[in-house]
Amino acid sequence: MDGQGKVGRRSLIVGSAALAATGLSASPAEALIKSRRAEFAVWDPITDRSTTAMTPRRVTIHIAVTSSADIYGPGKGPGDSYAHFYNPRSGAPRQHQTMDCRAAADLEGSSSTISVEHAGIVGDSMTDSQLTNIAKIFAWAHLFCGVPNRIATVDNLSGLAWHRLGIDGNFGTYDPNLRRTWCRDQTGAVWSSSPGKTCPTDNFIRQVPTVYNRAQTWIEIFRNPPPDL
Ligand SMILES: [Zn+2]
Repeated sequence: MDGQGKVGRRSLIVGSAALAATGLSASPAEALIKSRRAEFAVWDPITDRSTTAMTPRRVTIHIAVTSSADIYGPGKGPGDSYAHFYNPRSGAPRQHQTMDCRAAADLEGSSSTISVEHAGIVGDSMTDSQLTNIAKIFAWAHLFCGVPNRIATVDNLSGLAWHRLGIDGNFGTYDPNLRRTWCRDQTGAVWSSSPGKTCPTDNFIRQVPTVYNRAQTWIEIFRNPPPDL
């Protein structure tokens, strides 16, 4: 998970990042279709990724517990897992799977989830760059993939979500006003087979309202892009 050995490949991709952002470098079969790919992300598809279609209902935040700039591409991650996006501590997000097909990061939730792994270790909060990236991904998913524009609640897991909502564990006494205490006990969702998995961390969950608020601005920008965007 340290990303070693991928430097050469990544540097090649960085060189084509500007083209990739325009969609001009895509082959005809991978032309940028907004319901499949976010134009602001570096396209870095996983080899042998799933071709099973899905209808996204949420964007789910994860923490990778590493500071690595990426943990996927072209191979899968630990245990053959992979998310749709990887959000590094700085720089553009990387997209590893199209948003209309399943990834493998949310167990039973994978049939309706756009998953976003984040670089970060315990104690970290999302960086300003990560907050903007995930806000843009959520805004894009709302406009072009049909994800409802809301923050997930224990009785409705659509919208902007986080992995712990489907994890079994003791995250403190349930408090309807404290999102970091919400988990499978309330939702019944089975998004992980690892009890007590701290994904994401309390600090990340505290930033969910900031992500949502920033996304509202990006929804307007993507809906009415200025001429130079
Ligand atoms: Zn997770």
